[in-house]
Amino acid sequence: MQRIPIVGGNWKMNTTRATAAALARAVAAANGTQDAVQVAVFPPFPYLIEVASALRGSPIMLGAQDVYFEPDGAFTGEISTSMLRDCGCNWVLVGHSERRHVIGECDDLVNRKVLAAVGAGLNVILCIGETKGQREAGEADAVNERQLRAGLRGVSAAQMKSIVIAYEPVWAIGTGLTATPEDAQAAHKAARAVLAGLFDPSTAQATRIQYGGSMKPGNAANLMTMPDIDGGLIGGASLNAADFSAIVQAAAPH
Ligand code: PEP
Repeated sequence: MQRIPIVGGNWKMNTTRATAAALARAVAAANGTQDAVQVAVFPPFPYLIEVASALRGSPIMLGAQDVYFEPDGAFTGEISTSMLRDCGCNWVLVGHSERRHVIGECDDLVNRKVLAAVGAGLNVILCIGETKGQREAGEADAVNERQLRAGLRGVSAAQMKSIVIAYEPVWAIGTGLTATPEDAQAAHKAARAVLAGLFDPSTAQATRIQYGGSMKPGNAANLMTMPDIDGGLIGGASLNAADFSAIVQAAAPH
């Protein structure tokens, strides 16, 4: 099964209105003819419209870093799926570890967001991953399985076409520590086995599973050679167009 790699740039709470537009233009210029890898960027909410216009005419896709599950109403500070679509987004991150561990999102909230986003026609990157303590306690696979089962509750096999999984060990995010290609491959393989049990083997084979956690130009190629790693979700290195584009290049099948 040939899966098209997908690389996402999660800009987190960084950039200004001007630097976000400039970064988007630089990413579009460097990857405008890239057709072997799908590329998406995830700017902060206030800059989505600005970045959408900077990306117009390029194949780079636009996503948001989060979404709320209710369609509208009295939910101060939240953003709905239709607002994201209105701003030109067709992707959204759900369950990023910073939302789970810094903001306190639980599996049930993550699941409601996944269902709302897919139901509204958005593509979702569902993030999973164990903490350092959980890995050291030998619980990594169990944690990832729990987050997958809970996050995908009520999702159909057909809807999995709109969902990408990002395996992001929490201890590797923003720390400069990266899972070895072998450890990452083992986690991706285990996640794919969970998907086969939840859905069916062909859905599991067709689902893209990205690696995230301090992926840089220097370590991307080795990670991407692993058979179950289908691209990357990039934080820090996505703020530099040249570094991000080097990672996109590394994700292209050779
Ligand atoms: C992320 O935020 O998803 C991420 C992987 O960050 P970093 O690349 O900075 O570790």
